[in-house]
Amino acid sequence: MSKQLIVIGGGAAGFFCAVNAARMDRSLKVTIIEKSNKLLTKVKVSGGGRCNVTHACFDIAEMSKRYPRGQHFVKKTFHQFFTTDTINWFEERGVKLKTEDDGRMFPVTDFSQTIIECLLKEANKYGVEVLMSKEVKNLSMVDGQWLIKFSDSRLQTSDYVCIACGGYPKSSMFDWLKELGHTIEEPVPSLFTFNLPKHPIIKLMGVSVEKTKIKIQNSKLEEEGPLLITHWGLSGPAVLRLSAWGAREIKTKNYELKININWLPDYNEETLRKKIQELRNTNASQKIINKNSFGLPSRLWEFFTEQSGIKNEWRWADLPSTEQNKLIKNLCSYECEVRGKTTFKEEFVTAGGIKLNEVDANTMMSKKVTNLFFAGEVLDVDGITGGFNFQHAWTSGFVAAKSILKNK
Ligand SMILES: Cc1cc2nc3c(=O)[nH]c(=O)nc-3n(C[C@H](O)[C@H](O)[C@H](O)COP(=O)(O)OP(=O)(O)OC[C@H]3O[C@@H](n4cnc5c(N)ncnc54)[C@H](O)[C@@H]3O)c2cc1C
Repeated sequence: MSKQLIVIGGGAAGFFCAVNAARMDRSLKVTIIEKSNKLLTKVKVSGGGRCNVTHACFDIAEMSKRYPRGQHFVKKTFHQFFTTDTINWFEERGVKLKTEDDGRMFPVTDFSQTIIECLLKEANKYGVEVLMSKEVKNLSMVDGQWLIKFSDSRLQTSDYVCIACGGYPKSSMFDWLKELGHTIEEPVPSLFTFNLPKHPIIKLMGVSVEKTKIKIQNSKLEEEGPLLITHWGLSGPAVLRLSAWGAREIKTKNYELKININWLPDYNEETLRKKIQELRNTNASQKIINKNSFGLPSRLWEFFTEQSGIKNEWRWADLPSTEQNKLIKNLCSYECEVRGKTTFKEEFVTAGGIKLNEVDANTMMSKKVTNLFFAGEVLDVDGITGGFNFQHAWTSGFVAAKSILKNK
C-alpha cells in the first residue's frame, strides 16, 4: 500500500511541500486540501502582482536578521534550503529571477502568474491531487493514522499531514491546532503604516526622503531608512520595518504612539548646530527658504522653515536663535503623534502562530505529535518586507517534504 501525505493549505508553503514530496518519492500519494476556491492567492497578489519570490542575500546569519520572529529557527532551516536553492529551483524549471537594487528578487517576467504556473505544472507533473473548497475542521490520530475531518463532516485518513494553512488574524481560528496540543503565540498584525490624522505634514503627500531615522518614544524601537509621506500618514521601508519589529509592543500601545523623526540622520542636534553656524557664515546673504543645503525635498524644507517660524524673506544672517533652535529640533527630532495604523497592502503578514519550541527546525515535525509537519506562515515566523516571508515558505515546505520521506 502506498503511503499518503495530506497538505492542508494551497498557498506557497503547501505547494512547495507537496510538489517536492511528490517529486522525491513517486510512490507517495500527495493531496493538497484548500478551503477556498482559489489556489496560491497570495502569490498572485504579492509584490504588486510581480511576486517578490526571495531576497538576494546569500549569508544565512545576515538573512536571519530580517526576521523579527523566528530568527534562530530560520537560521537552522536555511541550512537545508536557502535563497540560492530557491533561485536554482525555479531556474531549473524555466523561471529565471532578477534582482532589483534593494535586493528584492522577482521573476524576469515581472508577473506573479509565472510562479503560479510553474508550481501548478510541477504539481501536475508529479500527480499531486488538489482538492478545493474543502476546509479541514480537525485532525486526530487513530490507530497510527491521521483522521481528517472536513467542514462537510466527511472524513479521510492519511499517514502524514503537513499543516500549511497560513496565518490567522484571530487566536480562536487556531483552535483546531490547539486541540492537537500545540500552543499559539497570539496573532498580531505586522507590516503596517502609521496614521497621522489631520497632521499638517500629510499635506506633503508623495514626498519621500531616502534616509531618515524614526524612534518610538519610551521604547528601544528605532529604524533607519527611506520614509514616504502619504495622504493618511507615514509609510516606506523605515516605517514598515519599525512596525514589524515592534508588532507586539505597538499593539500593547493600541497603535497610539509618539515618534521622533530625524530627517538628517547623519547629524544630531549638536553637529547640526555647527553646520547651521557654518551656513550662516558662508550663505549670510542668501534667503533661508531658497538655500536648502541638506538635499531634502524642497517642499519638506519649506515646510520645516514655516513650522520653525522662519519668514520667507529672511536671510541666513538674520536667523534669530529661537527660530534656529526650532529648525534644528524639527530637522533632528520632529515629533509626531501616531493615531492608528493602516495595513500595508503590498505585503501583509501576521506575526504569531505555532510556538517554535514545539516544532523541530531540522525536520519541521511537531515535537508534540508524530507525523505532523508544519510549513509557512502558520508558524510564529515572520520577516520584514523584501521577499523574506516567501523564502521562509519555500524553505519550510521543502524541509517538511524531505523529512516526511526520511520518516517513511
Ligand atoms: C497582499 C500580500 C502581498 C504579499 N507580498 C509578498 C511578497 O512580495 N514577498 C514575500 O516574501 N511575502 C509577501 N507576502 C507574504 C506572503 O504572501 C506570505 O507570507 C505567504 O504567502 C505565506 O504562505 P503560506 O503558504 O504559509 O500561507 P497562505 O499563502 O496564506 O496559504 C494558506 C492557505 O491555506 C488555506 N487554509 C487555511 N485554513 C485552511 C483549512 N482549515 N483547510 C483548508 N485550507 C485552509 C487558505 O485558504 C490559504 O489558501 C504578501 C502577503 C500579502 C497578503
